[in-house]
Amino acid sequence: MNKARLTIIVPCYNEEEVLPESSKVLGGILNQLIQKNQISSASKLLFVDDGSKDKTWEIIKGLEKQAAIFTGIKFSRNFGHQNALMAGMKTAAATSDAVITIDADLQDDPNVIPEMVMKFNEGSDIVLGVRNDRTTDSRFKRWTAETFYSLMGRIGVQLVPDHADFRLLSHRAVNALMRYSETNLFLRGIIPQLGFPTTKLYYQRKPRFAGKSKYPFRKMLAFAMDGVTSFSIAPIKAILSVGIVISVISLGMMLYAFIKGLFGTTVDGWASLMTSLWFLGGVQLIGISIVGEYVGKIFAEVKHRPRYIIETDDYTVAQRPAVLAQQQRVRG
Ligand code: UDP
Ligand code: MG
Repeated sequence: MNKARLTIIVPCYNEEEVLPESSKVLGGILNQLIQKNQISSASKLLFVDDGSKDKTWEIIKGLEKQAAIFTGIKFSRNFGHQNALMAGMKTAAATSDAVITIDADLQDDPNVIPEMVMKFNEGSDIVLGVRNDRTTDSRFKRWTAETFYSLMGRIGVQLVPDHADFRLLSHRAVNALMRYSETNLFLRGIIPQLGFPTTKLYYQRKPRFAGKSKYPFRKMLAFAMDGVTSFSIAPIKAILSVGIVISVISLGMMLYAFIKGLFGTTVDGWASLMTSLWFLGGVQLIGISIVGEYVGKIFAEVKHRPRYIIETDDYTVAQRPAVLAQQQRVRG
């Protein structure tokens, strides 16, 4: 049997501080796997530069010159982590039997990669890296993550807790994933829906090797909101229940006001009137904003805009120079 061609995909956004080290570590692991004959010698380490403003792309270019296993894709601007992963997988899938995605900051243990390959060779299509503890994350990050997973579970979205975007996917799993054409991507929610033989591998998550997290609280919140609204209409249903409860209460209020009116003491009701006015206004605004969130999602989907725009694709160029040259001749 031919050895599997593996592509390790590394999304990078302003990662000049960590790239020299992570390319060394990941490149070393890939080379070792090649030497041990566990994967094909055509396997690659693919960096996806998500519109970095620092020297990330220059470093990637330098690596490409240094060794043939290094290659890169550059986006025309920042399109976000999930889109960088999708672009890497789509590009690599053309010529890979399996892909592994891993963050550039070495927080996920790269030593798990050989085990992932082993599981793949044993027949798993999907191998998920799962953290077995979060002691290196800040207490706040841990708390928000736990709340998020329990909330998602309650509204019926299947997630593998503490599995981020460190995983191996077989060629056919990537192809299945590519058929999910939605603009609002939440990969870790989609992966469990693919099916296929799946294995989990546990590892300890380390602190960032260098540099700062590219997920500030604002981005994290937006990501969590995307996760909820692209998988579930539970919030809209929740608004309906709140609406019903409030309507029932307001019926009671009406009755109360009517009886008060009969006894001629209506001025007394000012406080309760004001409170309910403000309360209802607030509930309505929340309701409208949540519905708006979904309408916005639909708006983004129907426009069918590209998820990302690639400026340079050295991976494909290196794989198929002849094909590309011909395409360019045709285009003139
Ligand atoms: N990343 C990206 N585009 C972005 C934000 C992040 O490609 O807009 C990459 C980043 O370079 C890193 C990975 O996604 O490789 C995870 O980001 P980070 O480590 O900052 O997130 P955290 O581990 O703090 O959740
Ligand atoms: Mg990180």
